[in-house]
Amino acid sequence: MEGGEACVATASGMAAIMSICVALLKAGDHIVSSRSIFGTTTTLFEKYLPRFGIEASFVDISDLQAWKQSIRQNTRLLFLETPSNPLIEIADIEALAGLAHDNRCLLVVDNCLCTPALQRPLELGADLVVHSATKYLDGQGRIVGGAVVGPEQLVAEEIFGVIRTTGPTLSPFNAWVALKGLETLSLRMNMHSQQATRLAEHLADHPGVERVYHPSLESHPQHQLAKSQQKGFGGVVSFVVAGGREKAWRVIDATQMLSITANLGDVKTTITHPASTTHGRVSDELKARVGITEGLIRIAVGLENIEDIIADLSRGLDA
Ligand SMILES: *Cc1c(COP(=O)(O)O)cnc(C)c1O
Repeated sequence: MEGGEACVATASGMAAIMSICVALLKAGDHIVSSRSIFGTTTTLFEKYLPRFGIEASFVDISDLQAWKQSIRQNTRLLFLETPSNPLIEIADIEALAGLAHDNRCLLVVDNCLCTPALQRPLELGADLVVHSATKYLDGQGRIVGGAVVGPEQLVAEEIFGVIRTTGPTLSPFNAWVALKGLETLSLRMNMHSQQATRLAEHLADHPGVERVYHPSLESHPQHQLAKSQQKGFGGVVSFVVAGGREKAWRVIDATQMLSITANLGDVKTTITHPASTTHGRVSDELKARVGITEGLIRIAVGLENIEDIIADLSRGLDA
C-alpha cells in the first residue's frame, strides 16, 4: 500500500521506531528530528538512545533552514511525523528528502495520521515509512502493532535482522486483526477526512472557539502543501477554547457519546486534553514552545453520524 519494496510488521509503533534505530545507527551517530513527534519517540531519542552514544537534535517541523543547520557530519537520520499530532503541522516531505540525500542521510517518515490511503511518503522521496498499526491501520482500537516499509536491503535484511534477533515481532493474532482492518482502510480514511473537515468548519464558526487546527481550512498555514502532498486532510482536528484548562475539561466532560481517551484512529470518536494526557509529562517550557496550551482539545473524528458528533460536542461548547 505504501509502494515500498519490503515491509516488516512489529509488535507496536514504538517497536518499529526502535528497530530502525537499532538496525541503522551506531554509537557516535546523530539524528535530526522534528520537535512535533509522538511523546514516547521523544523519550526514546532523548533518554534511551544517548546511553548508547546516539544523540538527537530537535527542530521546528516546517523550518527548512533549521533542519539544514542542525545536520552534522555524523547525522544519519532525519525523522518526522506529518501531519503532526496534535497541532496538525505539515512537513514538506519532498524538500526534506532532498536535504537528507544531499547530506547522505535517510529520511524516516511516521505516516500514522494519514496512512498510505491518504499519503505515500516513499513516492515523495522518503527512505523509510513507519506506522503505529495501533491507530488507523487496525482502525477499531483492538490491537497494538506497527510496521516499517522501505527498500529491500534496509527493511528485509537490516531491520528484519534486528527484529528476528531481539524479539519485537507482531503476534500472529494481531497480524490477522490488522489485515482485516486494512480491508476497509481507504473507505475509513476518506470518511474520517470528510467528517473532520465538516467538524473543522463548524468549530471555525463557533464563538467559543479561539483557533482550529485542520489543514482543510484555508487559514491553516500549510493548507496548500497538504493539498499537494496528501489525498485527504486526515481525521484529527484540534481546537482551542477560551478559558484554559477549566473550560477545556468542562467541554470534554459534558460529552456523552464521544470516548474520553488518548487513543486515536478508531471508528469511535475520541476526545483528549493533550496538555494533561499525551503531553502530561512534557515540561511546561516545551509545551509552550510546541503550542500545547491548556485550552487545547484534540478530536480524532470517528465514523458516527457527524451531526451526532457535533451535537455531543455542543453540550459543553454552547454552554
Ligand atoms: C501511537 C503512535 C506511535 C506509537 O505507536 P504504538 O503502537 O502505541 O507503540 C508512534 N507514532 C505516532 C504518530 C503515534 O500516534
